[in-house]
Amino acid sequence: MELNKEKITLIADCEVTDKSKTAGGAVVRTSKFCADISECDFEGSCFVQTNLCATFKCSDMSGDYFEEVDLSGAGFERSDVSGAEFNEVNLSGAAIIDSDMSGIEISGCKLDGMTIDGFNVRELIEFYKKNHKENFDMKKNVRKAVIAGNWKMNKTRPEAKALLEELKGKVSDPGCEVIACVPFTNLETAIEATKGTPIKVGAQNCHFEKSGAFTGEISADMLVEMGVEYVVLGHSERRQYFGETDETVNKRTRAALAAGLKPIVCVGELLWERECNITEEVIARQIKLDFYAVSAEELKKCIIAYEPVWAIGTGKTATADQAEEVCAFIRATLAKLYGADAAEAVTIQYGGSMNAGNAEELLSKVNVDGGLIGGASLKAADFNTIIEAATKG
Ligand code: PEP
Repeated sequence: MELNKEKITLIADCEVTDKSKTAGGAVVRTSKFCADISECDFEGSCFVQTNLCATFKCSDMSGDYFEEVDLSGAGFERSDVSGAEFNEVNLSGAAIIDSDMSGIEISGCKLDGMTIDGFNVRELIEFYKKNHKENFDMKKNVRKAVIAGNWKMNKTRPEAKALLEELKGKVSDPGCEVIACVPFTNLETAIEATKGTPIKVGAQNCHFEKSGAFTGEISADMLVEMGVEYVVLGHSERRQYFGETDETVNKRTRAALAAGLKPIVCVGELLWERECNITEEVIARQIKLDFYAVSAEELKKCIIAYEPVWAIGTGKTATADQAEEVCAFIRATLAKLYGADAAEAVTIQYGGSMNAGNAEELLSKVNVDGGLIGGASLKAADFNTIIEAATKG
């Protein structure tokens, strides 16, 4: 939680009684709380190393932050605790009744004997974990695994034809969707070469306007007219070298969808953003902006590629656990924005130095439904090994 230091009042050794107010970012330490506290406004407060073994009734504790607080045996009744954060808090034996607990975050807390509306919290968590995992496992089987090669600025037309001919010989009946995202100049060659095969063709960008004075750009309609099915949008190389922003990625995504293309939208954090521990903020922001005004039905036609920028073309791959963590976070973010059904239907790929050696482990993860492959897609044998790994899932 971020605290606005200027707004903080440190209330040490304060005594809180009925109808007290500490709203507005108060920090409460070493305080005394009477056994029954009703109708108090603690919204946005921060409790540190405090003993709060009290019963809070009809109180507003929304957005509060609790750290190293003793709430053992405490009670919350008909109170608003939404969005509160509990860090290393002793909640053993605490009883929550008829209170709003939406969006709370709990880390490193003691939960033994804690109940919510009479249900034991540990049992609820176990039940949720089991069902949640089964749900996603099941959905993984029904979600389409998609392996897409991003050729970037590589291959002349004869070279493209040769690579696709070699790939065709290997990929006759893949257990996943296979896409070759080739340079614009190779699209026609690729469409011709892959006719009658399971390999689909994608472009690496498209403009958001239908036509006009946009020198050097290609519209979504032009791609569709050629027979192109997919388009990569928001690749980090476009963001880094060609000034692509979340706003233009959003416009391109909407234009691609309107034209009937299936966008592969790339998101991912920079190395220093990961080091600053803001990966989730960066990803959530990109998802919200890149898919602004995209409907749930349209979202289901999109693929999202999680591509940590530090892993692209560097040979430095995210670990399978790191990839899973962020792909699961993307799905959870989509679930908040679009509901669980849409979120569970979306294919989420990992991209960033995925190769024949590491693909199987990355693709075994429940929320990693496929891969966007740069370097390794330029070698038919390596790309085919990745396709086989996706088939095993
Ligand atoms: C990419 O271009 O999207 C990519 C992941 O590249 P590489 O596999 O070479 O890291």
